[in-house]
Amino acid sequence: MTLSPLTNADLHCHSVVSDGGCTPEELALRAREGGVQLWALTDHDEVGGVAAARQAALQQGLAFLSGVEISVSFAGQVVHIVGLGFDETHPALLQGLADTRDGRGPRAREMAAGLAAVGIQGAYEGALQHVGNPALISRTHFARWLVEAGHCRDVPEVFRRFLTEGKPGFVPHRWASLSDALAWIHGAGGVAVIAHPARYKFTPNEELALFTDFKAHGGQAVEVVTGSHSASDAARYAEVALEFGLLASRGSDFHAPGESRTELGSLPDLPGRLQPVWMALQDRVSYPS
Ligand code: AMP
Ligand code: MN
Ligand code: MN
Ligand code: MN
Repeated sequence: MTLSPLTNADLHCHSVVSDGGCTPEELALRAREGGVQLWALTDHDEVGGVAAARQAALQQGLAFLSGVEISVSFAGQVVHIVGLGFDETHPALLQGLADTRDGRGPRAREMAAGLAAVGIQGAYEGALQHVGNPALISRTHFARWLVEAGHCRDVPEVFRRFLTEGKPGFVPHRWASLSDALAWIHGAGGVAVIAHPARYKFTPNEELALFTDFKAHGGQAVEVVTGSHSASDAARYAEVALEFGLLASRGSDFHAPGESRTELGSLPDLPGRLQPVWMALQDRVSYPS
């Protein structure tokens, strides 16, 4: 199998190892059914699903890249940095991810206290019922429980009313630094990607600082076509990729059936004038026999 710029690459999604709803094996099957040819699993702050995902991918005839999505604090907001094509057993990467995960338990208890203060009892225990991996308890698990318990109609409504800045269940948190996250990815032989840049609410100056610092620390790629971008977002970040000399990535950010708008493998192609990140990672890919 050889890769091309038109390969159906889906390089961003989540399993039950973080806040997704499917096992790595279920995702591999879904990816094949969705027409994916090159796949990466990018759980939040954890690579525990990568080995199983690779094995399942190769069984389904898919090419595979290791992946992760690291939570980073930058200019007072959370930025997600995807790493691709690294050695998922690299000790410094594993330690950095473990340190990043560490604060999630106490944070979740504080989130539940904030919700209890507005009359929603039992959110911590409720969220835990939705968690595959307790070390990765996230806002998504709280959101699923709040819907199940009848407090909101759907997950986006939960985020709007309860889980975003200034709302009762929001707890500010210090994640990894941008330079540490990039050092872990690069130390393990991978490429770093700014995930879904249109999702951040930065001023133009802050966004410029993000891209400038990312480049200064050796960051090489940006997600242009993602389930989190509109067509106009993709057009805008295609220009930004060219302006900053960044490779371009593509990924659905699929989380769970019935919850994610974008199915694995269903995104449009990258704009033709961009350099796809997977063409630079061909020797890091595991290919099916
Ligand atoms: P956490 O890492 O615990 O802060 O949770 C972040 C996760 O929440 C993201 O990876 C998304 O899966 C989900 N998320 C964030 N914002 C929203 C939103 N507005 N609507 C639905 N899901 C969201
Ligand atoms: Mn998520
Ligand atoms: Mn993300
Ligand atoms: Mn994601």
